[in-house]
Amino acid sequence: MPTALDAGGIASSLPKASGRRWKILDYFPFHSFRFCGHKHSIATVASKAYKYRIYPTKNQLSIMLQLLETHRHLYNNALAQRKEWHEAEKTPLNFAQQCKILTQERKINPFLAFANAASCQRTLKRLDRSFQAFFRRVKSGEAPGYPRFKGRGQFDSVEYTIGDGCKFTLDNKAYFQKVGNIKIKMHRPIEGKIKTMRFKKEGDGWHVVFSCELPPMRSAGHELPDVEIEATKLPSVGIDLGLKSFLVDSEGNEVKPPKHYRKAQAKLRRLQRSVARKKRGGANRKKSVNRLAKFSQHVANQRKDFHHKSALDLVKRFGKIAHENLNVKGIVRSLNLAKSAHDAGWGKFLSILKHKAESAGVEVVGVDPQNTTQACSNCGCLPVEKLTLKVRVYKCLHCGLILDRDHNAAINIRNKAWIEPLGVNQEGYLMDFSRSPQL
Ligand SMILES: [Zn+2]
Repeated sequence: MPTALDAGGIASSLPKASGRRWKILDYFPFHSFRFCGHKHSIATVASKAYKYRIYPTKNQLSIMLQLLETHRHLYNNALAQRKEWHEAEKTPLNFAQQCKILTQERKINPFLAFANAASCQRTLKRLDRSFQAFFRRVKSGEAPGYPRFKGRGQFDSVEYTIGDGCKFTLDNKAYFQKVGNIKIKMHRPIEGKIKTMRFKKEGDGWHVVFSCELPPMRSAGHELPDVEIEATKLPSVGIDLGLKSFLVDSEGNEVKPPKHYRKAQAKLRRLQRSVARKKRGGANRKKSVNRLAKFSQHVANQRKDFHHKSALDLVKRFGKIAHENLNVKGIVRSLNLAKSAHDAGWGKFLSILKHKAESAGVEVVGVDPQNTTQACSNCGCLPVEKLTLKVRVYKCLHCGLILDRDHNAAINIRNKAWIEPLGVNQEGYLMDFSRSPQL
C-alpha cells in the first residue's frame, strides 16, 4: 500500500499560515463548511450511537480493508504534517488548512481519490479532536500525551456523513460509497435522526455504528419506561466507586464486580502468552492473535453490558447522583492496582452514567475527592491517623459512628454535592456545620 500523502511536498505548496485562515476557507464549496467546525448542533439535542453487526461479502471486505488503510495513512501523514508545519512555521496547522491540502492531494493520489471526500475530512477532524484534547491537557497541567501515529491494525473505523457517501436503506442495509449495500443484523430499532454512519472493524467482526440525534427526553421515554420525567422528585444519592465493590451508594447498597471478570482475566493472560510463544509472521501466530482479539472483544462487551445495567439501575432510582471526580491515572499509580482499576473501568462507567442521566433528566455531579474516605459522614471530623486501605470499617472516635468504609465515603460524596458546607475548623477538623456533633 503506497503512502497516501507526501507530507513535506504539500506543506511547502500551501500558502503561509499566518493571517490567511479566512482565505483558505473561501475555497470551499458550501457543503464542506459543516466539516470545518463552524456549524454545530444545538446543545439541547442529545445524541446516541447504535451499533450493529454487519456481514460484508469477500469483495466488500477487501474494499473496506483498503479504505481503512487509506484512512490510516491519511491520519498518519496529517499528523506528520502538523509536526513539520509547527517546526517550520511556529504556528499550528489547523483543520481547515488540512482540508485544503486534502483537496489538492485527492487530485493526484488515486487511493485518496477512491475514498469519499467527506469521510476523509472526518478522519482529519478526528486528528483535530485529538489535538484539541492534547492542548486542553497541556493547559490543565495533566500528562499531555501527544497524538500518536496509528500502526497497522490500529485504525479501525471510517466515518461518513448521511447523504454524502452513505445511507441506511429501506430494506435495512448499510450503504457505503464504493463498498455497496451491506447486510445488517438489526437486533434493535434505531431511534432519532441519523447523522453519521461508521463501519468499524472489531476483534469479533465488522460493525456499523449509527450516530443519531434525539430530542432530550425522547430516549428516556423509550428506554426507561418506569422513570418519572420529573426526576427531581426522586432522592439524591452519592456513589463511591471502588475495587472491592464496584460501587457502594449512600444508602448502603453494594454492587459487586461480576464474577466472570477474574476468570476472563486469567483466560486473557493465557491467550496473550500463547501469542507471545508463536513465531512472528507464522500462520499459528495469526490464529492465536485472532483468538485473542475475539476474546478481548467478548470481555469488553461483557464489561460494557455490566456498566449499562448498573448505570440504568441508578438512573431509575435516583434524581440526583454525585460521584467523585476521579483522576483514574493518579489512583492507579498511587495504589499500584493497575489491573483491577483497569478492570473496573470507572471512567467508562461514569461516561455511560452521565449519558443515561442526561436523557432521563437526572442530575449527575462530580465532587472533589479530598477527604471523602477520611472524614466522618456524621460529624465531619477527620481521624487522627489516616485510614489505610486495609481498614474496611469506619469508626469515629468523636461521635462514635461505625459504618462500612465505602458506605461512609458514599454519604460524604452525596453531602459534598448537596448538603455542604463542609469546612475545616480551627483544630484542623473537617466540620459539617449543617449537623450538630453527637458526643
Ligand atoms: Zn463522627
